[in-house]
Amino acid sequence: MTPRRVLILGGTVEAAQLAAILDADPNFDPITSLAGRTRSPAPVPGIVRAGGFGGPEGLTRYIIEEAIDLLVDATHPFAEQITRHAAVAAELSDLPRLRLERPAWSRHPDDQWIEVSDIDHAVLGLPSGTRRVFLSIGRQDLAPFTDRDGVWFLLRMIDQRSTPPGLANCTCVFGRGPFAVDAEIGLLREHHIDTVVSKNSGGEATYGKIVAARRLGLPIVMIRRPAAPPGDRAESVGEALDWLRRAGLS
Ligand code: NAP
Repeated sequence: MTPRRVLILGGTVEAAQLAAILDADPNFDPITSLAGRTRSPAPVPGIVRAGGFGGPEGLTRYIIEEAIDLLVDATHPFAEQITRHAAVAAELSDLPRLRLERPAWSRHPDDQWIEVSDIDHAVLGLPSGTRRVFLSIGRQDLAPFTDRDGVWFLLRMIDQRSTPPGLANCTCVFGRGPFAVDAEIGLLREHHIDTVVSKNSGGEATYGKIVAARRLGLPIVMIRRPAAPPGDRAESVGEALDWLRRAGLS
């Protein structure tokens, strides 16, 4: 049988794990797509392309030109736009599509979460008296915090870039997960953090800060995930493989 061509929309640990398994399977021919914003992305096995497609129309064109058989959207739970585009493009090109999204974190009884619906509400959700925030949400979503006077921010980024993040009162640290709990406790203590802001990304790699905040008794402003378009869903690489084998080998 001709291998099935699978387009994996990536940028997550799960996408790279799926690419590794499919790359070693003669029944599949995977291509991973990255947004191309990280200067030194984590290595991904198999064929990789990078950069936006040019909206849903561009993605549809790419799917047709590359004779893609199956689409797995394994982008980050907060990559809302590309997930919407993937749904539209799959519909337009009549392509089976799977959304692979790891489960969200659930609140432990000792957690002090202030759950909010989006980034704008995260700014409003900072407890009164907040002075020093670990703002661990990525570089792109910082703008709403620029108006928050009297608060100092600790930012963590993957890329050490020359462009400043646009917040006046902040310090940046650099690193790529996984982050261990003890190191996260050390970071929060060293910078006298009183509040953590986090997306509910799920997964193990960045869960250390959640446990660290719990142990130190710090509140977390936890941003809920955006709603995903309807369609087939998997919560793990194993479930995605089951779907691919059903959809691709039938
Ligand atoms: P986004 O807002 O949903 O997408 C913005 C645009 O970037 C899309 O319209 C698309 O451009 C392009 N794009 C995004 N992901 C792409 C991919 N995998 N391949 C090709 N083009 C892609 O995305 P985002 O939140 O900026 O995330 C960008 C990447 O970082 C994703 O791969 C995501 O998995 C990863 N990531 C995101 C977060 C987060 O918190 N958002 C965290 C960790 C990793 P066109 O319209 O031109 O096609």
